[in-house]
Amino acid sequence: MLLSRTCFGTDKEYCKMLVDAGYDAVDINDTSHKPEIFLQSTDQQFAFVKNAVDNILSVGLKIGQCHAPHSISLWCSTPDEVEQRIVAIENCVKTVSKLNIPYTVIHPFVFAFNKQDEDPEKLWQFNVDYIRRICKCATNTTICLENMPGEGGVIRTGDDMAKMLSDVGDDNLMVCLDTGHLISQNCKATDFFAAVGDRVKTLHIHDSIPGQDLHLLAGEGRFDWEDFKNALRQYNYHGNINSESNFVYKSPKDLQLEGQILERKILEKFLIK
Ligand SMILES: [Zn+2]
Repeated sequence: MLLSRTCFGTDKEYCKMLVDAGYDAVDINDTSHKPEIFLQSTDQQFAFVKNAVDNILSVGLKIGQCHAPHSISLWCSTPDEVEQRIVAIENCVKTVSKLNIPYTVIHPFVFAFNKQDEDPEKLWQFNVDYIRRICKCATNTTICLENMPGEGGVIRTGDDMAKMLSDVGDDNLMVCLDTGHLISQNCKATDFFAAVGDRVKTLHIHDSIPGQDLHLLAGEGRFDWEDFKNALRQYNYHGNINSESNFVYKSPKDLQLEGQILERKILEKFLIK
């Protein structure tokens, strides 16, 4: 089990700070909010992800996961924009497959954060088809599907996740459990693991409160962390402990290292020895 920290802007300086803070690995997140990169030439896409990979490896850290470009809300997107985003996600997965990155995290497409689609069955089938397309591109990385926050989240609970895994029907499709998204839905980790425990391969650890997606430090919100610890043990989770809080981004620059150390100490409680 490695302690892994999400990273927007994987430059060498940031990676060195993670070494000093005692982390083992980095989760590449530069890719999640730069979909335009994955509509450029294959060489440009490769150079972008390779640069992040090289920076991480050069300081002796490992790579935990890579986040594919975010999906977009359907209520405010044209069919062309949606198709273009699926292509960007496919291209990201193809690029990641060339770089020995073990896991790539994807989101389902939602209608809107806080509103369900008027035709939920049609949206569900759209997601089944989209996820099958993405899985086909993953030749050398494992796709992990993430649970979502909000009323319109499509995959909101462990039962939703179990149904999606079964409908997609690809044995290689795995799960990224996002703890902040789970408390946003007022759900508990043990219930989520009871539904899909053997398929959870990566985590996004952060805290929030029901109805919100705040990316707080574990313990600052309402998530039941004792229940989470029990679930990791009970279901024999041995993947990485991946942090996705925004805590350090809110600290003053000269205290960022101390912030990273504090967060690492909190994450260490979840390591199974
Ligand atoms: Zn997440």
